[in-house]
This record gives sequence, C-alpha cells and structure tokens, in this order.
Amino acid sequence: MSKPIQFEDRICSFGASVGLAYFDPAAGGSIETALTNADIALNAAKQDGRGLCRIFESKMREATLHHILMTQQIKAGITAHQFEPHYQPQINAMTGEIIGFEALIRWHHPDRGLVPAFEFLLAAERAGLMDQLDAVVLDRACFAVTQMISWGLLQPRVSVNMSMAQILDPDITDKILQNVGAYGISPDNLRVELLESTLIEDESTVIIDNVHRLIQAGFAIELDDFGTGHSAIATLRKFAVSRIKIDRSLVQNISKDTELQVITGAIVELANRLGVRVLAEGVETQAEQEMINHLGCQYAQGYLHGRPMPLDDLKNWINQHRTSLKTAAYPQSSVLG
Ligand code: C2E
Ligand code: CA
Ligand code: CA
Repeated sequence: MSKPIQFEDRICSFGASVGLAYFDPAAGGSIETALTNADIALNAAKQDGRGLCRIFESKMREATLHHILMTQQIKAGITAHQFEPHYQPQINAMTGEIIGFEALIRWHHPDRGLVPAFEFLLAAERAGLMDQLDAVVLDRACFAVTQMISWGLLQPRVSVNMSMAQILDPDITDKILQNVGAYGISPDNLRVELLESTLIEDESTVIIDNVHRLIQAGFAIELDDFGTGHSAIATLRKFAVSRIKIDRSLVQNISKDTELQVITGAIVELANRLGVRVLAEGVETQAEQEMINHLGCQYAQGYLHGRPMPLDDLKNWINQHRTSLKTAAYPQSSVLG
C-alpha cells in the first residue's frame, strides 16, 4: 500500500494503520467483542505513530477508556469555563524591567484542583481539542492585556503558545486579528510562540504562509524550546523570528556545566549576530541568572523571577516587583518597567 501511485499528473502516497484482535468462539468470544477490540487496537496503532499494526491487549482497553473519559471531561471543562491561563513574567535581567508575560494554560478541575498543562495537553491534542483550548487562551490573553493597560502598563505584551492545530488553520491570522480587534488592543500586544519542531517537522506551505501572514499583520514570532531540535539555524533564517527562547534543559545547571555554557554561549552569539533577541527559560537560581548574563543573554523567564500566576495576582506582583526594583540587585536597575 505504501508504494506511491500516479494519478493524472500527481504522485499519491497512502498509508494504513492496522488493528488486529483474535476471535475465538471456543473461548466464548463474540464477533462484536472481537470487532470492538480490533478497533481499540487500531486506535492504539494510530496513537503510536500511524503506519503500524497493533494486536489487541486488554491494557489497551483501559487506555482507551481513560482517553474517552479525559476527552469527555476536557469538552465539559471547556463548556464550563474551567480552562484559564496563568501568566509568567518575562524580564530584562540587566535592568529588571518587565518585558512581557507568557500565558500558560491551566485546568481548574472540580475534583482534581489546579491541573498543570502537561497532564492534559497530550490528551487534548489526540482528541482534536487543542484549537479550542488555544482559542480560550487567546481570548483570555487579549482580556489580560486590557487589564494590564488599565493598571498603567504602557506597552503590555503577552505571549501565547500556538499548537500545531492552530498553525495549520489557514484562517488563523484573521481569527487572531478579530480577537485582538474585539478587545481594542493591537497586534503589538501579542507575541506568538511556536515550537521549533512545528516549523521543522512539517514543511507544509500552510505553515509557512501562516507565519508570514502573522508577521505581516504585526505579530512577533518567537521560537520556543530553542536548542532541542535539529535544524535550528535553518529555521532562524527561513522565518523572520524576533526572539528565541532557550530551552530549560540548557539553562538548568548552566552555572556548573561548562558544556552547557559553551552551547548556550554559541546560541546567544549566533542570535545576536542575526539580530534576534534571546530569552533564557526556566531560570531558577541566581547563579544560573549570573551565568546567563555573563553569556550575553538579556532576557529571562523562570521561577527565580516569578512563577506562572492567575491574572488576579498579577497586579500585586507587578507592584511588588516595581518596588523591589528600586532596591534590587539588577546590574543596571535604573530603568523601570
Ligand atoms: P513552555 O512553553 O516551554 O512553557 C514553559 C513551562 O515551564 C511552563 O510549564 C512553566 O510553568 C514552566 N516553567 C517556567 N519557569 C520554570 C522554572 O524556573 N523551572 C521549572 N522547572 N519550570 C518552569 P507548563 O505551564 O506546565 O507548560 C508546559 C508546556 O505546555 C509549555 O511549555 C507549552 O509547550 C505547553 N502549553 C502550556 N500552555 C499552553 C497553551 O495555552 N497552548 C499550547 N498550545 N501549549 C501550551
Ligand atoms: Ca512557550
Ligand atoms: Ca519553552
């Protein structure tokens, strides 16, 4: 099946996933059960990466039931407005100035409390619900900008994470522009974070067109988790990225690990030469921050500076941060954000 065939002037490729289940009437099995089990195995084959054959095992049934339950709960949660982003500050580590916030989705689950992103994003993606969740975050992020303006922030900027589902949507730029317009804010108030893997792995023209359209409309594009992919440099050249975010795995322990220092230093130098800004993610300790500064990376985000927090707590955090700036240990702390 996988052999490409010619149709008119096109080469067409096909694929198949296969689910198998044993049917043993002697053991009391029914055809219906065997077909359901084969379906479950087929589902497992697709989830394991497509183009595979899987034979039914009873543990697959549990996984499928769990998936169905999660999907139902996420759908119900969207309807009941249980999803809402928290906001993590991003700062200029030299001056202490606040340069923006990243919107990170959270689930206020009625029984489980606050559920972190990694516990439900994969399930949401598999269930095809990512674009709905991203739409919620986008809407809330626009609202957050209006709040920040009302608190006196002159040029607030909120970064939103864009999923594969969104960047594959040919109308995404118009949808975001509509949202921005509805809140009376400007594209300048939003930054769009894309994973390096999204841009590298799928060469589809929809993605390339969308990125160009977003940039034309005035949204800054940022490359998330930088340093974890393969052809990072090619991506930088191809898309007019305004900032890269150095992945936490390169930042963690950087104060002690000379290899990490060399890699990160090289990334910063490359970005600086290309005129791309650099932000270090997941900065947890003062020692890490000092090393990051030493390597010439100006911007930072991480628990050292502020954890992701609900919008309601943000105003207080901003006020406290501004007060602490007047006394704080930033190398050039004269500029107030
Ligand atoms: P990310 O975009 O790399 O976001 C940074 C993650 O690192 C966040 O986890 C944040 O809470 C965490 N973090 C920040 N500072 C520190 C630190 O100093 N130390 C440590 N250990 N962790 C830190 P979170 O919120 O659980 O999000 C995980 C991932 O889920 C995100 O990684 C992002 O890829 C995805 N995600 C989160 N919200 C959204 C969303 O609204 N839409 C989409 N498409 N993806 C999202
Ligand atoms: Ca991100
Ligand atoms: Ca990241």
